[in-house]
Amino acid sequence: MPSSPLINDLRARLLRFAAAMPKIELHVHLEGAIAPATVLALARRHGRTLPAQDEAGLRAWYRFTHFRHFVEVYLTLSDLLRTAADFELIAYEFGRDMAQQHIRYAEVTFTPYTHLWQNKGLHPDDLIAGLEAGRQRARQDFGVEMAWVFDIPRNLSFADGVYTGRASDPTVEMAIAYRDRGVVALGLGGNEVGAPPEPFAPAFAAARSAGLHSVPHAGETAGPASVWGALRALGAERIGHGVRSVEDPDLLTYLAERRIPLEVNLTSNICLGIYPDYAAHPPAPPAGGRRAGDHQQRRPAPVRHHPDP
Ligand SMILES: [Zn+2]
Repeated sequence: MPSSPLINDLRARLLRFAAAMPKIELHVHLEGAIAPATVLALARRHGRTLPAQDEAGLRAWYRFTHFRHFVEVYLTLSDLLRTAADFELIAYEFGRDMAQQHIRYAEVTFTPYTHLWQNKGLHPDDLIAGLEAGRQRARQDFGVEMAWVFDIPRNLSFADGVYTGRASDPTVEMAIAYRDRGVVALGLGGNEVGAPPEPFAPAFAAARSAGLHSVPHAGETAGPASVWGALRALGAERIGHGVRSVEDPDLLTYLAERRIPLEVNLTSNICLGIYPDYAAHPPAPPAGGRRAGDHQQRRPAPVRHHPDP
């Protein structure tokens, strides 16, 4: 990137402008947004030993080496959340962070099934009570509004490659039951490889007919077929990541015509190795050559900045 006093000054002014601008946040995972100091406090609270004992060590451990390492970190952090008070704490602190960044409204992804699957003796009502208390206190103290996207961990719904509904059924049930506690949408996350969207169609149909929105992840660890599946089988209104849609021009046209936004998440895509660096990230041609369909200068579908999913 070029550097000169003029460009540095412009960059600093742009950063200040972006920081001060009121914003909405549409793709963030609550369990992935816990401050390192809070992670350490939770570990002490529950007598857990982490791979790192201080904030610098945690930050180094967070440097993902591959998607599986990311899942390992994610599950270790989730295991630290064991009581209603823990969930209240992280929701409240998330609200504080929103206010610091001038984010007024956020649709925050949360994965309730992980916490039940981890066998912590946690009742769904405690989990929801904690989230709700944190959300309300954050609204009161910081003037921010957060809503929840309850997310199905897709891989836990398959056993030996066969769909079981083990994770999706309870997630949908909770999402519908807790619509009055800020749940606005059903999500679908995890590694798409070996866990395609189509078997989740009944889960999303149930959620949609109960008035929830459909915002699955797709086109992150798998290509355009996964995005097509999310659109056609799950009625996706917004796609988490979706960045690999760029590999299929027809898909880009479809998304643009229907104004279906992609939550592209550049930093995440680099951290998880979906692309090696920003230079290779779409809309730039991928390093080492062009993909099929890149014969014209294609751009990702426009993202609609609107709080409704
Ligand atoms: Zn995500």
